[in-house]
Amino acid sequence: MEIACLDLEGVLVPEIWINVSKRTGIDELKLTTRDISDYNVLMRQRLKILEKHKLGLPDIQAVIEAMGPLEGAHDFLNWLRARYQVIILSDTFYEFAAPLMRQLGYPTLLCHHLEVTEYGFVSDYKLRQKDQKRQAVKAFHKLNFHVIAAGDSYNDTSMLAEADAGILFCPPQNVIDEFPQFQVTRNYDELKVAFAAASAAIQKKD
Ligand SMILES: [Mg+2]
Repeated sequence: MEIACLDLEGVLVPEIWINVSKRTGIDELKLTTRDISDYNVLMRQRLKILEKHKLGLPDIQAVIEAMGPLEGAHDFLNWLRARYQVIILSDTFYEFAAPLMRQLGYPTLLCHHLEVTEYGFVSDYKLRQKDQKRQAVKAFHKLNFHVIAAGDSYNDTSMLAEADAGILFCPPQNVIDEFPQFQVTRNYDELKVAFAAASAAIQKKD
């Protein structure tokens, strides 16, 4: 029995912070872990920027709602869910992902939580677990599932390494160069073929 683990941003939906930055015109929100390597520092800065611009959770959710999933993502996800138990492993927050999950038919999502004040302002964030994508794959292995995982970036590589098969989807060139062990796919048709091949290899081994 196989479980498919998928990253969210860059695989099924656009990068949330970058698009919120574009759509709100707030340039400082464009910074990512590539610019500020300490995630804690980056998140604190993001929350301060939201506060400065008086953007509450409903405002950000409206922006995210209008963003929508990537073209073809919903069809791809339906294809995958007909063949595997699908779990989305993401480092985003439930409150941000909610409008996109609705547009994707509410797949199972494991991610993190935001703390929101009674006035709707984001006051803090809670990471559920460190390296949670990898921990999830380990847990599925303990439950006797095989895991095929796909993601696009650095924060996916420990999940891809832990899985029985790890696939990169539209990754940046530096990730391709640093992790040549993972197969690279560039559209949903290629990703489907990679999932089918990984399944065949797993079943042959069993
Ligand atoms: Mg991603």
